[in-house]
Amino acid sequence: MRSENPKAAAACDHAPPGAAIRTFALALLPGDGIGPEVLAEAVKVLRRVEQGLTGVAFALTEHAVGAGEYLRSGDPLPPAVLSACRAADAILLGAMGLPEVRWPDGREITPQIDLRERLDLYAGVRPVRLFHPADSPFKNHQPQLDLAVVRESTEGLFSARLAQADPAAGEVRDVLRVTRRGTERVCRVAFDLARRRRRKITLVDKANVLPSMVFFRQVFDQVAAEFPDIETERIYVDAAALYLVQRPHRFDVLVTENMFGDILSDLAAGLVGGMGMAPSGDLGDHCAVFQPSHGTAPDIAGRGVANPVATILSLAMLLEWLGHPETRRAAHLVRRAVERVLTDPTQRTPDLGGKLTTAQLGDLIAANL
Ligand code: ATP
Repeated sequence: MRSENPKAAAACDHAPPGAAIRTFALALLPGDGIGPEVLAEAVKVLRRVEQGLTGVAFALTEHAVGAGEYLRSGDPLPPAVLSACRAADAILLGAMGLPEVRWPDGREITPQIDLRERLDLYAGVRPVRLFHPADSPFKNHQPQLDLAVVRESTEGLFSARLAQADPAAGEVRDVLRVTRRGTERVCRVAFDLARRRRRKITLVDKANVLPSMVFFRQVFDQVAAEFPDIETERIYVDAAALYLVQRPHRFDVLVTENMFGDILSDLAAGLVGGMGMAPSGDLGDHCAVFQPSHGTAPDIAGRGVANPVATILSLAMLLEWLGHPETRRAAHLVRRAVERVLTDPTQRTPDLGGKLTTAQLGDLIAANL
């Protein structure tokens, strides 16, 4: 995670630990489906870990967003909520959108993508870690499976998402947009992350076919020259899918275009137990949103069986991103508590064959802090 969070730098300069209480303002966006259920567990863990911190407190403000808010007010992401998000030190989100709630033109409501675009959150960081071999669908995967996909999140093939397709047309095109600025900045985040991990970065592209990807690779190479201490490799997206399944241990940080990252990060989550285990951070230069990689899972919503681990690990990413020594310590404590609980493969929610409810798994993690 980036350590140059500007709001955190201010916090450290003006309020060293022990001198005064530094209160971090966190915007909570529970959203729809299982979003509120998993977010409640992250808040439980946050409140518990806060008790052991020195000089740091959290002020939490909850906001209504998503499909439910659209049905209520006609706007899934009201301007006042957007302003509150901009003003907060960080944002923790559950999940948003429901398949049956759509705009009049039939498109699904996706305020989480709007939020990403409006706050210019250009780097989607998705760490994937296997905590116990029993969670992997493959028998040869070991706990050291530990990688991170960094997905460009403001352009790529998603830049075409708001275009209207004419059903009477004979042809429809989506544009894959790659800019120098967009590529440079996401590559820098990825290199920066690799520097704090195992110092290896894999560019995933399709430079053998698409001119936009040739350009992406050229910009990657230019940024790589700024990081001579990081080992680099370049592979095509189809090979990346194969290697992620066959030899995921070879990867440390992968950086890629928006759509490729969308697909590969779900594939990678499948290697470690599925969407309930995959946290994410959408980072910009001024704001960041942390959320589980999964959606609202309407099939299991309201039953209290959703896996809260992805959201609790997203909270750990948030705490690290805040960049204060005490919040970094809290991030470490939260990760260690998750690790301890998941050492026992029976301590799982039903998605991983366990019998625990969402709240029971959250309680166990909070108790292990
Ligand atoms: P989106 O497009 O909004 O990302 P999606 O269509 O990928 O959503 P999800 O909501 O992520 O779908 O759910 C995919 C599957 O994973 C569903 O079967 C769902 O029940 C399951 N799932 C997702 N999150 C969890 C979770 N936290 N715990 C247990 N199962 C989950």
